[in-house]
Amino acid sequence: MGKNYETVIGLEVHVELATKTKIFCGCSTAFGGEPNSHTCPVCTGMPGSLPVLNRQVLEYAIAVGLATNCEITRDAKFDRKNYFYPDNPQNYQISQLYLPICRNGKVEIETKKGKKYVGIHEIHMEEDAGKLIHDEREDCSLVDYNRSGVPLLEIVSEPDMRDAEEVIACLETLRMLIQYLGASDCKMQEGSMRADVNLSVREAGAKEFGTRTETKNLNSFRAIMHVIEHETQRQIDLLEEGREVVQETRRWDDNKGYSYAMRSKEDARDYRYFPDPDLMPVHVSEEMLEEIRAKQPEFRAERIERYRREFDIPAYDIGILTETKQMADLFEETTALCGQPKKVSNWLMGETLRLLKERNEDPEDIRFSPKHLAKLISLVDAKEITGSVAKDVFVKMFEEDIDPEAYAEEQGLKTVNDESALRRTVERVLTENPQSVADYKGGRQKAIGFLVGQTMRAMKGKADPGLVNRMLKELLG
Ligand code: ADP
Ligand code: MG
Ligand code: ZN
Repeated sequence: MGKNYETVIGLEVHVELATKTKIFCGCSTAFGGEPNSHTCPVCTGMPGSLPVLNRQVLEYAIAVGLATNCEITRDAKFDRKNYFYPDNPQNYQISQLYLPICRNGKVEIETKKGKKYVGIHEIHMEEDAGKLIHDEREDCSLVDYNRSGVPLLEIVSEPDMRDAEEVIACLETLRMLIQYLGASDCKMQEGSMRADVNLSVREAGAKEFGTRTETKNLNSFRAIMHVIEHETQRQIDLLEEGREVVQETRRWDDNKGYSYAMRSKEDARDYRYFPDPDLMPVHVSEEMLEEIRAKQPEFRAERIERYRREFDIPAYDIGILTETKQMADLFEETTALCGQPKKVSNWLMGETLRLLKERNEDPEDIRFSPKHLAKLISLVDAKEITGSVAKDVFVKMFEEDIDPEAYAEEQGLKTVNDESALRRTVERVLTENPQSVADYKGGRQKAIGFLVGQTMRAMKGKADPGLVNRMLKELLG
């Protein structure tokens, strides 16, 4: 094994768009639902039915193209990709081959090695297929066309990546751009983002690329990392044995942890592509382009820069807060209300992320409002509730978006600022703990910690620990 090899990877990423209706008909794109309840003659391929392009699909595609620095094709077309399979009721998929909506873009990724660009070869619009359910007990296959006609973007990268870290960084970058746009939720585990990994190896320094294989439909970073590792090794082993890599499509079995050849690689000819005669070419006017450009949000990279200038919080916090638009918006809106960026960041990065993880939820599932988080922070600042009470109130707020002030009031959680009531408790704690009092007076400063703890307990956490401390010291002389 004297030789050094380099891995070369290109991605084809499928993203399910967040439109309410399908790409060529008015049926709902909602996930779930009774099988075949979100269907009509168009998305079940009935003869004589005609597709009509959903404008929102086009707008999302252009927005994603602009975000990935693509050229937007001003006269794009749809083509038929012919293949016969029961999940595809028309016997062709409407896709784009000759004039895809976006071309020649790039995204910047960052890894431990630094920053680099990954080229975007093209982005095209297409429709998803239905779903086959193989019922082993009844020994039959069933088909559900609810997903048939759900809009997809396929983003094809250049073979610019060299290892798994770059691939993950590229997918993360795409995910964040698309989520910031609201064009898709890009949830890999739910299939709204999935990737095909094209991979070849070559001797380090070689000019030409090696022969590649394509492993289809990967829906987790873990599977992608495994595929890259296994496929790299498999190809190196072949070359070391003096054999050749066959260009083919492979499938990864996530349970067994290995991949197998599915079919030899088909090329465009096998699909007998031709322009879809039912759809007009899509003309993108200057006005439409300008309108979409004007609506582009501030993306993560720009936010990171702005947060560095505007907020006095660590770069680490900024990185995490801007990972999703939901979190970043929540951070900004809450900070605008209470003026305490670091405290807001602590609540979001600490308790919020902890609870989301515990419940297997995402930032977009957050229910509490900026107003209520700001109020909670102000309540702690004003010493109306203690830090530990605030954590309990927060859990309630996280679940039901309750008003923290009203809730603390109702539940009797407010700090007792009534000094005479506190003094009575402190005095009682002192009489009940003569040993600690003696220890303290004998010079053991630490004994006061125990007394503070006892007082806080007697007050059910509703006392200001600083005040308790001072009062104890005063009474202990
Ligand atoms: P096709 O249209 O036949 O699927 P393309 O040439 O358009 O093939 O490439 C598809 C994907 O394969 C792209 O993501 C591209 O970056 C990647 N790719 C192309 N050649 C190689 C190679 N030699 N090694 C790794 N990836 C490759
Ligand atoms: Mg392909
Ligand atoms: Zn339909």
